[in-house]
Amino acid sequence: MTKHKHVIALSGGKDSAALAVYMREKHPDLDLEYVFTDSGCELPETYEYLDRIRAVLNIDITVIKPEKGWDYWSLVKVKRTPYGAFPYLPSPQQRWCTEVLKLIPYEQWINTRFPDCMVNSYVGLRADESSDRQGLVSRNPDLRVRFPFIEDGLVYEDIRDILLGSGLGFPDYYSWRTRSGCFFCFYQSKREWLGLYKNHPDLYYKAMKYETDLPDKGIRFTWCQDLSLRELLEKKDEFEDDQVLEEGEISRDVSAESRLIDTLGHLSRREG
Ligand code: SF4
Repeated sequence: MTKHKHVIALSGGKDSAALAVYMREKHPDLDLEYVFTDSGCELPETYEYLDRIRAVLNIDITVIKPEKGWDYWSLVKVKRTPYGAFPYLPSPQQRWCTEVLKLIPYEQWINTRFPDCMVNSYVGLRADESSDRQGLVSRNPDLRVRFPFIEDGLVYEDIRDILLGSGLGFPDYYSWRTRSGCFFCFYQSKREWLGLYKNHPDLYYKAMKYETDLPDKGIRFTWCQDLSLRELLEKKDEFEDDQVLEEGEISRDVSAESRLIDTLGHLSRREG
C-alpha cells in the first residue's frame, strides 16, 4: 500500500507560518514535516522568524540548500554582447534563480526523502488571493497539492488572528517589506528596495554589485527594469515616505500566482 507523507514548505513568510499553526491544530493526527529551502540569500529576519517558529511550535524544520549557490550561478548565467559576456540578473520573465536555488533542491529532497510515497504538499495560499488555481495543481500522480486556507475560506484577517493568537506574530521585515525571499528579489517595489537600504545597507550594496550598467555600450542588467540601484539611491526622495506597507500593496508587484510558483514551480518540472 502506498504510504502518504505530509509536507509544509515554509517560505519564511507569514502565510506558510500560519498554515503550520493551523494544520497542527486542525489535523493533530497528521505526521507533518516542515521544510525550508534556503537560497543562501535570505534576509536575516527570515532566519530569526524560522527560529521563532521552531521555538513556538516546538518543531524541527529541515533546511534544504542548493548544491551550488547564488555566487556560482550569478557567474554562470551570462549573456554575450559585442563587448564580451556579462552576468545577467534574473527577472520576472527569466526566473532562473527560483529554479536553481529553490525548486531543484526541493525536488531532489522530495525524491530522496520520500521514494515511492504519495506526498501531500500543503500550501498557504489564502482564499482572498487565489485568483487562479487552474494549472497550478500537479499532474504528478505522486504529489498532491493542497490549499487548506482556500478549502476552508481563510483570508488575511484569519491569518493575522492565527499568528497573533499563537504568539508567533509577523516576521520583523513586514515593517518595510511584504514578501519573504532573497534580499535582492526583483519583485521588490522601489520603496522596499529603499527599506533594504535602511535596514540592511550592506545587503543593498551587495545587490548593487551584481548589477551591470554600461549605458555607453547599451548594456544594462539591473534589478529594477527602469533604473539601477545606484540611481535609485540618488532619487530616493521621490520614492520614500513614512507609511508602513499595507498588505494589499504586494499585489502591485507580485501576483498571488507568481508567489505560488515559488512554491509550486517544481511541480511543472516534475511533470516534464
Ligand atoms: S525570492 Fe526572488 S530572487 Fe529569490 S529565488 Fe525567489 S524569485 Fe528569485
